[in-house]
Amino acid sequence: MDTPPTPDQSADDIISDLGAHFDEHNLYYQTVSSVLEAADLLGVPHQLKLILTQPKNEIMMHCPVKMDDGTWQLFKGYRVQHNNVLGPYKGGIRYHHNVKLDEVKTLALLMTMKCALARLPFGGAKGALKFDPRAVSPAELERVTRRLTAALGSNIGPDYDIPAPDVGTNAQTMAWMADTYINFAESSRKVAASSIVTGKPLQFGGSAGREKATGQGLVYVLDALLPGMNLDLPKLSYSLIGFGNVGSWTARLLQARGAKLRAVMDHTGAIFSSAGINATNLAEHVRKTGGIKDFAEAEAIDEGTFYSTPVDLFIPAALEQMVDLDNAKKIQCKVLVEAANAPTTPRAEKHLLSKGVEVLPAILCNAGGVTVSYFEWKQNRQAETWDEFLVDQRLQKVMQESAERVLQTADRLQCSMRSASYAAAIDHINQVYSVRGVFP
Ligand code: NAD
Repeated sequence: MDTPPTPDQSADDIISDLGAHFDEHNLYYQTVSSVLEAADLLGVPHQLKLILTQPKNEIMMHCPVKMDDGTWQLFKGYRVQHNNVLGPYKGGIRYHHNVKLDEVKTLALLMTMKCALARLPFGGAKGALKFDPRAVSPAELERVTRRLTAALGSNIGPDYDIPAPDVGTNAQTMAWMADTYINFAESSRKVAASSIVTGKPLQFGGSAGREKATGQGLVYVLDALLPGMNLDLPKLSYSLIGFGNVGSWTARLLQARGAKLRAVMDHTGAIFSSAGINATNLAEHVRKTGGIKDFAEAEAIDEGTFYSTPVDLFIPAALEQMVDLDNAKKIQCKVLVEAANAPTTPRAEKHLLSKGVEVLPAILCNAGGVTVSYFEWKQNRQAETWDEFLVDQRLQKVMQESAERVLQTADRLQCSMRSASYAAAIDHINQVYSVRGVFP
């Protein structure tokens, strides 16, 4: 983009033009504002800013499901489709008791940005069902998932909108979704229908390397960026929020590189070990017990101690906005690596940057998941099976190129890594709109 910046309206003006008002504590408006600030650095056309500010579609569902004891419950579900100018909508399905529409809108917007930054042929979406998956039986979980898939109906499709796992969902959830969708598909479309979701089990069209992909991608981003900060991964210590798919795989892969895990926090508590926590043993403990609490090889600590533990890297890999200003004041690290989506509030980020902490943004750090999802979708459509070596090799290329794109953009626009990651994404979207036009 060589056009000189021509900021026609501030982020607040655009948001109020759309009938909303800017609320600095609202995650959606925080995220939209950061995206619009990056758009202003590029000087993109007004219509693009308007388009990015709201999702194309917001679907809301209520799914009645019979529980094991014979009673009925109504589950509220969302699918937000933010933008599909680059390709089919793509984004995870979250199961969480506290999920809200604004959170799903935020995550869908971030998916648009993430796919564009990594130059994947996908748009952005996100879905959620408001319930606690840990509070239902496996049979109930299956019925809820199949009912959700039926309710989504033609709002999803292998060429239109392709869900994947997120918080509270996994490969088994995706298998139930795919099986339900295939059962509804016409006979001649059943093979094609199997690419309706990614993150499936290996036996059912999943990709080698998908389960660890988000953690693996993050490690490749660190490989690309840490040397420029004079940091040597094998000599570094780190702490981690969240020990689910993303957190536990990040930890196991960083362990193989020699980095030392000092402290972990999840929904069951926080633990510390000065000698370093063995990620493989902790993953086994979490598999058996459901959380990190009572892990015998580390001492229990409180939340304040967890945040204050001095480390080189601080890696949030759980939910949004966990690193707020109060926590940011306690954190003592050199680099904050966003494995989770939107884990840092704008005030916390400002504080961390002022302390000299580098903040590596989520749309770069956790893009490994959607990248290998893209590889899975591509393998399904071409009836191919790639081995883990090939998947990792191609993932590394995407992550390295994305990291370089962010660095070059930060240098060109003299901005933070977050603004640069959004700008690099918006630049690509802008170029596609400039040739496609906006219908009609
Ligand atoms: P998960 O459900 O496997 O794990 C979530 C983790 O968060 C668990 O360890 C849980 O204990 C922890 N957690 C929940 N509430 C907490 C609390 N109040 N305090 C501390 N910890 C808490 O989910 P995941 O798939 O690992 O996703 C984690 C993050 O990464 C999310 O932001 C998700 O959107 C993002 N992400 C996931 C993928 C993927 O492929 N799964 C890809 C990209 C981004």
